[in-house]
Amino acid sequence: MSQRKVIRMQLGFIGTGVMGAAIAKNLMAAGYAMTVYNRTKSKADALIAAGATWAENPAEVARQSDVVLTMVGFPADVEQVYFGENGIFASLKPGKTVIDMTTSQPKLAAKIADYAAAHGFHALDAPVSGGDIGAKKASLTIMVGGDDATYDAMQPLFKVIGHQVNHFGPAGTGQHAKMANQIMIAGTMTGLTEMLLYTKAAGLDPQKVLSTLSSGGADNWSMDNYVPRILKGDYTPGFFARHFLKDLRIALSEADAMGLDLVATAQAKRLYEVMVDVKGLGDQGTQGLINTYESKPI
Ligand code: NAP
Repeated sequence: MSQRKVIRMQLGFIGTGVMGAAIAKNLMAAGYAMTVYNRTKSKADALIAAGATWAENPAEVARQSDVVLTMVGFPADVEQVYFGENGIFASLKPGKTVIDMTTSQPKLAAKIADYAAAHGFHALDAPVSGGDIGAKKASLTIMVGGDDATYDAMQPLFKVIGHQVNHFGPAGTGQHAKMANQIMIAGTMTGLTEMLLYTKAAGLDPQKVLSTLSSGGADNWSMDNYVPRILKGDYTPGFFARHFLKDLRIALSEADAMGLDLVATAQAKRLYEVMVDVKGLGDQGTQGLINTYESKPI
């Protein structure tokens, strides 16, 4: 009987914050060997304790990995971990794959893919939705841009961490799909905030209103996940408000380039600017938007 060689991909993960730590943990639980790096090392401690190997910088992760996944904060962070000194591209070997799961700019995804193609690497943009809970439960929705062959090759990884994986087209289209998602979320976040303020002003029981709305046409993921947190006074992230403001700025900049005037999304951006830039509440979760309103939060 011929012996079958079992090949395990060696994974690298850069950015082990709220989302990245949970995603990396699920990949390790599925049996993948993992090398990790994060700007603040302590946020990788739990993964290291679970068997991950620590690397001193992104280049070191890339040197040891077949596939490098990144989930950092802002586009500038993505630039740094890919193109910076001791970045991924300083040591990635030809034939290897990078997957950026950060919510970032479509044009930066295209820049990474172009560089990758020119140097014999493979690249996907694969931002997600489903929040901290979806990351922990491995039930993320994953929006992918990049070439068909790389998308197909990475399916086993996506299946470990997500329930729904969709490929939209070439590099950058995953980020565009994520922007469509964030435009939708702008409406659900402002909607749930003002719904709660109205509920309070009308003297209604907010729990009763929530369970009523949840079973009707107003039901949505943001309301179901964030209103219970607000009612407990829990403004911890979840999803950092400063990251959501970053997303709204990217979405509006892309819309502007397409000649679109998204007035409601622009208003949501202004509200989150008050929360993050004026009130300094960017480290709260997005549900903290209610704390920017004059009327007292519930
Ligand atoms: P987070 O907790 O801040 O995680 C980001 C991690 O990346 C942090 O630990 C940060 O290090 C690290 N990092 C940033 N720049 C780095 C660099 N140059 N080198 C190495 N590490 C670096 O944020 P998150 O909530 O996981 O979100 C990550 C991304 O996913 C964001 O783009 C966000 O918009 C997106 N996203 C978030 C959610 C959500 O619900 N949380 C959902 C979908 C998408 P430090 O520890 O030093 O800050």
